Amino acid sequence: MKIIVCVKQVLAANQIKFDLKTNTMVRAADNSYINPNDLFAIQIAVQLKERYGGTVTAVTMGPPISEEVLLEAMALGVDRGMLISDRRFAGADTLATSYVLGMGIRKLGDFDLILCGTESTDSNTGQVGPQLAEEMDLPQVTRVEKIEKQGGMLRLERVSDGLREVMEVAPPVMLTISREAAFPGLPSLLDIQDAYVDKKLDCFTLDDLEADEQKVGLNGSGIWVTGLTQVPNKQKRCEFVKGGFRQQVQTLMEKLREKNLID
Ligand SMILES: Cc1cc2nc3c(=O)[nH]c(=O)nc-3n(C[C@H](O)[C@H](O)[C@H](O)COP(=O)(O)OP(=O)(O)OC[C@H]3O[C@@H](n4cnc5c(N)ncnc54)[C@H](O)[C@@H]3O)c2cc1C
Repeated sequence: MKIIVCVKQVLAANQIKFDLKTNTMVRAADNSYINPNDLFAIQIAVQLKERYGGTVTAVTMGPPISEEVLLEAMALGVDRGMLISDRRFAGADTLATSYVLGMGIRKLGDFDLILCGTESTDSNTGQVGPQLAEEMDLPQVTRVEKIEKQGGMLRLERVSDGLREVMEVAPPVMLTISREAAFPGLPSLLDIQDAYVDKKLDCFTLDDLEADEQKVGLNGSGIWVTGLTQVPNKQKRCEFVKGGFRQQVQTLMEKLREKNLID
């Protein structure tokens, strides 16, 4: 099986900083990391490779520092990384992002599967996987929990509205992977060292992709973020319950009853 996994470098949830003049996120090496939802896709890709053989390539579009997420993916068992990076990609909306990812993946030749996370944790649109499928004219299934190869077909399972759906699809196909699909692996120190020493990375610019400059970055975007304001967090209060064990339990029960949380 030849598997492509799309991974995005996102801002750490507690360090999201915006440039309010350009309405863009401020990215730096120390506030960015791999999109947690992509770890499930990586894990499934590596499991499929172990079961059926083949290769896994991780692809990311981002600034040069996003090579970090490719190295992390390789420490987790991915074979190669493809970094697609060019200043002209800056300001891309999801459509422009999907176009560039599609042009990059075409450079990798034939494949069976493109796996994406369900959504990023820093913009959360969940649009890139489905748009990438459209861009590459592929069938798509979202929020997949289980993948099995049966002859030339893939048997997939997903859960929707309390129903487990089972379906068959012929590769090549784009799948977004549910958080229920796998438990993300933890790389060993040796795996991390190998990934950083071997650095099995290929870097591509706009010119390498032979992409249309009018379809990338701000030029190619149909959406511009024109305003950003902070939504105040819900007020949270921490209270320590005093007294001995019995007294503490009694006070806690009273407080929970007052708030109608228990009868
Ligand atoms: C505050 C804010 C709001 C935004 N709102 C919109 C909006 O409403 N519409 C819009 O079009 N754009 C929007 N954008 C731009 C959007 O963040 C970018 O287009 C971004 O490149 C992808 O969107 P996402 O993070 O929502 O991806 P999602 O669609 O949530 O990501 C799903 C999956 O796609 C893959 N993926 C996503 N990006 C990459 C990448 N760069 N490289 C490799 N794989 C990737 C990953 O597997 C990921 O798990 C917004 C940006 C900001 C800062």
